[in-house]
Amino acid sequence: MSCALVTGASRGLGRAIAVQLAKDHGLHILVNFASNQQAAEETLAEIQSVGGSGELLQFNVQTKTEVDEALNGWKEKNEDKTISVLVNNAGITRDGLFMWMPEKDWDDVVDVSAKGLFNVTQNAIQQMLRKRSGRIVNIASVSGLKGVPGQVNYSAAKGAIIAASRSLAQEVAKRKITVNVVAPGFITSDMTKDLNEEELKQMIPMNRFGKAEEVAHLVSFLVSDKAAYITGEVININGGIYS
Ligand code: NAP
Repeated sequence: MSCALVTGASRGLGRAIAVQLAKDHGLHILVNFASNQQAAEETLAEIQSVGGSGELLQFNVQTKTEVDEALNGWKEKNEDKTISVLVNNAGITRDGLFMWMPEKDWDDVVDVSAKGLFNVTQNAIQQMLRKRSGRIVNIASVSGLKGVPGQVNYSAAKGAIIAASRSLAQEVAKRKITVNVVAPGFITSDMTKDLNEEELKQMIPMNRFGKAEEVAHLVSFLVSDKAAYITGEVININGGIYS
């Protein structure tokens, strides 16, 4: 049975992506989350409500030992299943001006996105390499392309994801594994709930924030057979913000 592992799938974009992949591709979804089990269970219920299947898989993407323990334990118990799709979606922000940024805010933001990508991908890609097929989609941000003041840490983290994805895409293309990046602009979620939407939407040509489901449709296309020849790409989804 083919599975999709979606990190940070308890809320926001990750939840929408998890539900969409179950709906469009019949993939068994591994719903990863950091600590919010109740929200992760709601994701699972949504997956089931569209006729899909899945299970919760808690781990902190920042910690390699935790990731390996969870994924290796899952693999041992599920020899009939393989992870053919990985969506590295988990991410956090700790915004603030660079001159006053605490070291921890730099480390945490870079660790969840960039080190998280290393930890989860290095484990999950082994089966894809053996099977000679796979899809990896990494969620970056407009911040990683054009930069945003107050987000030097987040821009560094997302820029790292973009550069790493392009390199990895070239390493694994011969094994028919594609690696692409989705770079959203402002999308309605817990991450953006404290932003001033009325003010910010004025700089978006579409004059609105995006929806998590709109990002999920793009990810769903990238994991489909139709996207087999697209790799190493960064696809913006931002309502026309020029980056
Ligand atoms: P969100 O609503 O804050 O949800 C974040 C998700 O990541 C939650 O499921 C959370 O799990 C999980 N998570 C956080 N730290 C984790 C860790 N160390 N290990 C495992 N899971 C972890 O965020 P979102 O808006 O959906 O954002 C999802 C992704 O899109 C992020 O990478 C973000 O940078 C990117 N993005 C978002 C926007 C936007 O406007 N919303 C724009 C561009 C890019 P818990 O529920 O357990 O805490």
